[in-house]
Amino acid sequence: MAISDHVGFEDFMTGVERRNPHQTEFVQAVREVAEDIFDYIADKEKYHEYQILRRIAEPDRVVSFRVCWEDDSGNIRVQRGWRVQNNNSIGPYKGGIRFHPSVTESVLKFLAFEQTFKNSLTGLPLGGGKGGSNFNPKGKSEHEIMRFCQSFMTELYRHVGEDTDVPAGDIGVGAREIGFMFGQYKRITNRFTGVLTGKGLEFGGSLVRTEATGYGAVYFLENMLKHINSSVEGKSAVISGSGNVATHAAEKILQLGGKVLTLSDSQGFIHDPDGINQEKLDWVKRQKGVLRGPLSAYTDEFGGGSSFNSGERPWGVTCDIAMPCATQNELVGQEAETLVKNGCMAVSEGANMPTDLDGIKVFKDAGICYAPGKASNAGGVAVSGLEMSQNSERISWEEETLQEQLQSIMKGIHDRCLEYGEKEDGKVDYVKGANIAGFVKVADAMLAYGVV
Ligand code: NDP
Repeated sequence: MAISDHVGFEDFMTGVERRNPHQTEFVQAVREVAEDIFDYIADKEKYHEYQILRRIAEPDRVVSFRVCWEDDSGNIRVQRGWRVQNNNSIGPYKGGIRFHPSVTESVLKFLAFEQTFKNSLTGLPLGGGKGGSNFNPKGKSEHEIMRFCQSFMTELYRHVGEDTDVPAGDIGVGAREIGFMFGQYKRITNRFTGVLTGKGLEFGGSLVRTEATGYGAVYFLENMLKHINSSVEGKSAVISGSGNVATHAAEKILQLGGKVLTLSDSQGFIHDPDGINQEKLDWVKRQKGVLRGPLSAYTDEFGGGSSFNSGERPWGVTCDIAMPCATQNELVGQEAETLVKNGCMAVSEGANMPTDLDGIKVFKDAGICYAPGKASNAGGVAVSGLEMSQNSERISWEEETLQEQLQSIMKGIHDRCLEYGEKEDGKVDYVKGANIAGFVKVADAMLAYGVV
């Protein structure tokens, strides 16, 4: 078949939409990647012949299951759980578990698809997967969370394993939930293996895993700025979210001499023109972490010129750097325009797909440094990969070693983006670079396996 006979991009997308009705997040993620891949494979017959992109955009399997649990009042509650195993061509499926009422099959399919490219970019042998439930942990007691996690794992355990599929945390799933799930896995299987990452340090967890995604997103930002002879020092940053990724991104910005102006949660954002320093950040970590309280209490605690902007997002605050670190589609076209208009020079995504397709176009057209999450937030899964290695060796590496490895992995991802994304005028299309670099490794492994 001549290459010109192959299906075109829009026809390909029509097929994706037809096969995945009402799965808007998944279709959006495929569109963002496929556009770049179509250009790249235009003259590469083998990828067409073996239908590589079509196959990556069809998960290996989607497991859907019922999760029953009993609340503190004795009521029986029923939730839905999923594990999406997208692609294991270069290693066991790997990707987080999300507990949030917005979780659907579409959201998890988009995350598992993105994870496949992200994990490939790290240079580690990790396939792509994602899982979760529409369970809402907010307002639940610790015992309710424990019972839910145990019930979730009672089904999940048959689909995961240290060489099969290794889940981790994500929104709503932190060290506590990982502990409950690991405990249940161990109890059912009578095996102590590295089946989950993000574990407590006492039972096989890795140093630096907690900080890795946020720190890594700032290391990636540093690499981008260095490429244009700039740095984080003296720059102002607007950050969304106030969870694991956001607070550690803020911490690294501070360590590198930047100023953090905002953080947010699902109720709104805090703006502190004096800057959120380490003391204030430690308060946020405790307030949103252990205490699970609202971010709005920040203004009572610190006063000054700080304000809480209820129901709003922070992208209207003038800044040099923007880091969306909360959730998908939290930065849309018009907000991207405002950021650019106000002089924002770099965007490094800590969350997965936080910028919508219109927003990405705005950043690309403006020619500012823009790092898609699949490149910039890969530090978390990278250190998870290192946790798997440590578990296999039954040894714990030193913090210094892990910090160095994280920095080196983020630089490696940046280099891979340059390889496929640097344009003739010296500017870098990081979206294209990340998409193609992530694709090539997975695609070539798939070619080696034949049609399976
Ligand atoms: P957390 O649960 O620790 O924090 C999530 C934060 O986002 C909270 O501040 C939460 O506010 C806010 N948030 C959640 N949903 C919404 C919403 N619909 N609108 C506004 N704010 C919202 O999660 P993480 O920090 O771990 O994850 C954040 C993002 O980073 C996600 O996209 C995740 O997939 C991605 N990511 C995480 C990695 C990790 O290692 N943890 C690795 C790679 C990517 P509230 O408290 O009010 O709910």
